[in-house]
Amino acid sequence: MIDVKQNVLLKDYSTMRLGGTARYLVEINSRQELEESVLLAQKNSLPILMIGGGSNVIWRDEGFAGMVLVNKITGFRAFEEDASNVFITIGAGEKWDSMVAQTVQMNLTGIESLSLIPGSTGATVVQNVGAYGQEISQTLTNVEVFDLQDLKFKILSSSNCLLSYRSSIFKSNPKNPYLISAVTLNLSKSQPDKSKLYPAVIEYLNQNNITDLTPATIRQAVIDIRSSKLPDPNVIANNGSFFTNPTISYQKFFSLQKSLNQAIPHWKVDTDNVKVAAAWLIEYSGLKDYHDQNTGFATWKTQPLVVINESGKSTRDLIAFRDFIIDTVYNKTGVTLIQEPQILP
Ligand SMILES: Cc1cc2nc3c(=O)[nH]c(=O)nc-3n(C[C@H](O)[C@H](O)[C@H](O)COP(=O)(O)OP(=O)(O)OC[C@H]3O[C@@H](n4cnc5c(N)ncnc54)[C@H](O)[C@@H]3O)c2cc1C
Repeated sequence: MIDVKQNVLLKDYSTMRLGGTARYLVEINSRQELEESVLLAQKNSLPILMIGGGSNVIWRDEGFAGMVLVNKITGFRAFEEDASNVFITIGAGEKWDSMVAQTVQMNLTGIESLSLIPGSTGATVVQNVGAYGQEISQTLTNVEVFDLQDLKFKILSSSNCLLSYRSSIFKSNPKNPYLISAVTLNLSKSQPDKSKLYPAVIEYLNQNNITDLTPATIRQAVIDIRSSKLPDPNVIANNGSFFTNPTISYQKFFSLQKSLNQAIPHWKVDTDNVKVAAAWLIEYSGLKDYHDQNTGFATWKTQPLVVINESGKSTRDLIAFRDFIIDTVYNKTGVTLIQEPQILP
């Protein structure tokens, strides 16, 4: 039996702690509750939005005149184990970091560098979460979805999810009809490959004289690095990185380095394009640890990619602060930043 709440404050369902009210909100604990809620919403012609932990969403001040479904579907099942692999199916509402901890405890490799990312397991696929050299695309086998068009549960293979840098079919398609109910990962029994480790992790291991490369030592390294750099969303309202790293052509990149007379941190995308560090662009533009008294928003002192809500009251003000950052960076560098968290609805 589903419990439909009315006129719910949406700031309690976003780690940026902003937004109006939802007309209806239901916490979904099972596939049956998911189906039941969708049927109820469709019967009453209500639009639907599914969320997990709200760590990558910002609600509009106007709120949402529909039904928010908060995915709390649990479950963890390991199967088809062979000498080198284990498949694991996880309920979309499981807390992601607890799942990483559990697989690390099983001494499995594949998601240990994605430690301490807030939110739910289902949402990791939505923006193909990535950190410290790993992305969910590297281990995802398939997702179970509920299709709002024909009201059936289906399996979508990883390739059908169209995962790309911080995006997927679930994020890029405005008419996405899929609600994710479970995620299946293929994890490995081999130990982590040193050649694939991110430089900051290698530096941490060296500094701490750690030579034993296991999922557990990598997880601990990532937790320590992240905790020293990022604000805890339970204490300081934020959505993590507020901008993605922009992709520009090599031609533009070289002329930018020359005109600024600076070495800009970058990563090769393909033969024509390069990704540049958005954090560097923001810091270069003089906006690291920048506090805007007018709007109540700021950039974080040790990671300027993170926008924090110090005393902000409205999403309108956050958008004004975002546009100020985008305009300033563009005027200083000619590069346009793109927002990472989604503004809903
Ligand atoms: C401090 C901090 C650090 C972060 N670090 C990283 C990082 O290193 N790398 C990274 O990639 N991200 C990072 N994030 C962003 C965020 O944590 C991830 O994107 C996370 O996967 C979002 O999970 P969530 O459950 O909170 O999703 P939500 O914010 O609830 O939802 C995000 C999007 O997914 C959709 N969605 C959620 N669940 C479902 C579902 N079951 N079915 C269909 N659609 C769904 C929502 O509609 C929304 O569009 C960070 C955030 C914070 C606050």
